[in-house]
Amino acid sequence: MAKIIHLFLSPSPSWSSTRTQQLLLLFPGLRTLHRGMASQATRYDLLVIGGGSGGLAGARRAAELGARAAVVESHKLGGTCVNVGCVPKKVMWNAAVHAEYLHDHKDYGFDADNVAFNWETLKAKRDAYISHLNHIYRNNLDKAKVQAIQGLATFTDDPEPTVEVEGKKYTASHILIATGGRPTMMSDDEVPGASLGITSDGFFELESLPKRTVIVGAGYIAVEMAGILSTLGSKTSLIIRQTGVLRNFDSTISANCTKELQKSGIDLWKNSQVKSVRKTERGLELTIITKDSEEKLSTIEDVDCLLWAIGRVPNTSGLNLEAMDLEMDERGHIVVDEFQNTTRPGIYAVGDVCGKALLTPVAIAAARKLAHRLFEAKKDSKLDYSCIPTVVFSHPPIGTVGLTEEEAVRLRGKENVKIYKTSFTPMYHAMTTRKTQCLMKLVCVGKEEKVVGLHMQGLGCDEMLQGFAVAIKMGATKADFDMTVAIHPTSSEELVTLR
Ligand SMILES: Cc1cc2nc3c(=O)[nH]c(=O)nc-3n(C[C@H](O)[C@H](O)[C@H](O)COP(=O)(O)OP(=O)(O)OC[C@H]3O[C@@H](n4cnc5c(N)ncnc54)[C@H](O)[C@@H]3O)c2cc1C
Repeated sequence: MAKIIHLFLSPSPSWSSTRTQQLLLLFPGLRTLHRGMASQATRYDLLVIGGGSGGLAGARRAAELGARAAVVESHKLGGTCVNVGCVPKKVMWNAAVHAEYLHDHKDYGFDADNVAFNWETLKAKRDAYISHLNHIYRNNLDKAKVQAIQGLATFTDDPEPTVEVEGKKYTASHILIATGGRPTMMSDDEVPGASLGITSDGFFELESLPKRTVIVGAGYIAVEMAGILSTLGSKTSLIIRQTGVLRNFDSTISANCTKELQKSGIDLWKNSQVKSVRKTERGLELTIITKDSEEKLSTIEDVDCLLWAIGRVPNTSGLNLEAMDLEMDERGHIVVDEFQNTTRPGIYAVGDVCGKALLTPVAIAAARKLAHRLFEAKKDSKLDYSCIPTVVFSHPPIGTVGLTEEEAVRLRGKENVKIYKTSFTPMYHAMTTRKTQCLMKLVCVGKEEKVVGLHMQGLGCDEMLQGFAVAIKMGATKADFDMTVAIHPTSSEELVTLR
């Protein structure tokens, strides 16, 4: 009987919950029967879909605040960051930094000839570390008494928002969608043979160091992976559609990073796109179309790794969100307000699935703020998305926070913006034949010269940024920077002595 009523009320995935509500209004008797069915679902205070950065943080904080919470995860706990993102990427970047420093060993008096690198050893250790983290995440959930549910979650057509996992139903007063995103790649229709390539997920599965790599993309993931592979010894080409990488960064950083990539030996193909990919006996053969003053076709042969790093899409397709009548943007991100509310009361979203500031600490902070709002009655608790610091693990690394020069000029007018800039060779390189530059830029606005942006690329800029980000978030002015005594000899001292 229950099955028949369910079928009647929820005949197909496209059957909207509004229509279900209309039916229930027409036949009130059905409501009691139907509610009975939804009550078969296991009930929580908070049900989180997605056990990644945002989901785990939100569920654990809610549990700490006394909520009965559960997390549904279809793959591995930890999500993108732990399994195929920040963490394994940083391990690889650390390895690449070793490789870079090897070039300097002689200059510092070490005999480092015949140093061999073994990708397999590194991968095995890295994978073991990630598995260890997966276990830690599971233990942390158990300790916090958060129920872990393994499987793919899909919304049902029940009138009360309900999620089904492996045939079992779950519901909650509050449901948080934290399903993140996944890398996208060209289809074989768009670029014949495109599927012979891999994405950043596949990068972490590589069993050996490719001899010849082609990376397509100009965003931070393309830049980071090109840097890692090239530094570790793979002959690497980077194909970009325009003339520079990191085009949404401050223009100085974009130009400098493009220059550093070329200086480090990466073969940069500007104004270029992959036209087709073909498998040959010696690897992949790529046809590249370059549109400079005139159009030119070229080939890159013997490629053993083609990596698409052309963007990410939100994980919303399998959730049956149509049943929930949630508003989504044209790219499939879930639309939320400043409190992470979706357009349906009782359903929230955080992290990459919302498409704003795709970073682990952002997902974590937004989820924790939400937990405090829902379970500690802190009604104003929400994440302030301004001044989010971020690092690109390029070679050398980039650190950036706040407005770019272009944004500041657009928002405040050119006459109200003052830029302080410097470029120098860090003292570390006084001994080395290999050189990298350090570039720093402060964006200040108004008479008081409030620092609204800091952009830098150079040795140590990754670790340098966090403390400066605190000062900028607090509203520091150029005079506050100047009042701070420098630490000598460091690169960071330049930031408090800019003129
Ligand atoms: C190569 C790479 C490098 C990165 N480097 C950095 C970095 O250095 N610093 C940084 O801050 N950020 C970095 N990021 C971004 C960071 O990983 C993400 O911003 C972060 O993981 C987003 O967290 P999230 O909770 O929104 O989603 P995720 O961490 O992606 O978690 C979503 C989870 O939901 C699960 N899921 C999806 N659909 C369902 C479903 N229907 N049912 C059940 N489970 C489901 C997924 O399996 C996944 O585990 C990197 C990303 C990549 C790809």
